[in-house]
Amino acid sequence: MRYPQLIIPLLLLLIWQCTPQLKERYTQVEDINYHLESTAPQNGRALQSNPCFTNEHYIPDTNHINHTPVKYIRVNFHWVNSSDSSKNYYGKEAIEYTKGLLHSANKDLETNNKLWFPYKNKLPTLPTRYHYLLTSDPDQPGTNGIYFHYDDELCYYIHKGRDRNLFDRRVIEKYGVGRDSVLNIFIMPHHPDSVASPTYLAGGVGVALGNDIKIAGIFENKAPSWVYRGVLNHEVGHVFGLAHAWLSNDGCADTPPHPGNCWNRTVAPPCDTMATNNVMDYNALQNAWTPCQIGKVQRSMATPGTRTRKIILPTWCTLNESKTISIRDTFSWNGAKDLEGHLIIEKGGVLNINCRVSMPPGGKVTIQPGGVLRLGDNAVLHNDCGQEWDGIIIQEQGAKKGQLSITEDSRIENAVNPIPKS
Ligand SMILES: [Zn+2]
Repeated sequence: MRYPQLIIPLLLLLIWQCTPQLKERYTQVEDINYHLESTAPQNGRALQSNPCFTNEHYIPDTNHINHTPVKYIRVNFHWVNSSDSSKNYYGKEAIEYTKGLLHSANKDLETNNKLWFPYKNKLPTLPTRYHYLLTSDPDQPGTNGIYFHYDDELCYYIHKGRDRNLFDRRVIEKYGVGRDSVLNIFIMPHHPDSVASPTYLAGGVGVALGNDIKIAGIFENKAPSWVYRGVLNHEVGHVFGLAHAWLSNDGCADTPPHPGNCWNRTVAPPCDTMATNNVMDYNALQNAWTPCQIGKVQRSMATPGTRTRKIILPTWCTLNESKTISIRDTFSWNGAKDLEGHLIIEKGGVLNINCRVSMPPGGKVTIQPGGVLRLGDNAVLHNDCGQEWDGIIIQEQGAKKGQLSITEDSRIENAVNPIPKS
């Protein structure tokens, strides 16, 4: 051979010419397979109802944790004090306390803890996939989301007794900041008359009132901030629809009812086996969430139009390419999702969407050759920010093409490149 150095380039050219070219286009009518059989879960109750309303469909999949983007709850803090500033923390001390409390509460949300109850249960310990974000008021430049109020009339919290005022919203209405988009947390002192009473326990207590929370007992007890992380996480649980875990009708099968009278574990019965650390029980720790409780909170956050969704930072309203999800296996998304990046169905990947999926502005869905996307009866592909996403791209290479199947009842909305009507 006179020119052996030419063999490899010639071979490469031959292979390149034999490889069919990759083509792509936004979905056309002829790309769609209509009249799909239902892809919804084929078991019991879920078959009868919309899967989007089922808590278990919002439980994070720890093998594919990026399918559940972290939701950020916007919060601010109000330290309410008497006019002589003697009844609560203020200034630097209160700011440090707030940061410490948020840090500890976020840590528990991130890691979660093994549930003590039911005794020797096999429930998995899952990350909650939500987080608190201290949020300042855009209308008040220079503020840090921590406010101080001195008000002898409204500063006190009375948990029990004839004069109890825990449901009184006047302090919230007077001092709340950005209440339509931020969870306002009021740290209040117990009333001095209550504290003086031998029958009143001036401990760490709280109440959730819609999107606002009142907590008392922090200043009186002089305990470090981490001690109250459970009180905060408990009240936020209520804001997002969680009921007390000891009740029989709390909407979660993995929180069986119990007497709820063990504050902590003891060596002697009954609190050797009956003690709980569930965030929605009353106990010393309040640092464990069951899978269903996490699913219930995530469902609340993913339901458009609810008051709870309004206090979540809309991370799904900005395209973040690093949050692109690639599907390489078979998945069924039976709960709503708010994606922050593109969605790619790769060769061999099958994605059944049976609920609402919000695509970020400019976001694309790409179905690669050998990939399959199926939209079931309750599927809605849209943008939940009042903006537009890009559309569904079908790729084709030789005989292989991305497959899109949709039912008559599925919907594709707010796309720059909508699917043409047949
Ligand atoms: Zn409660």
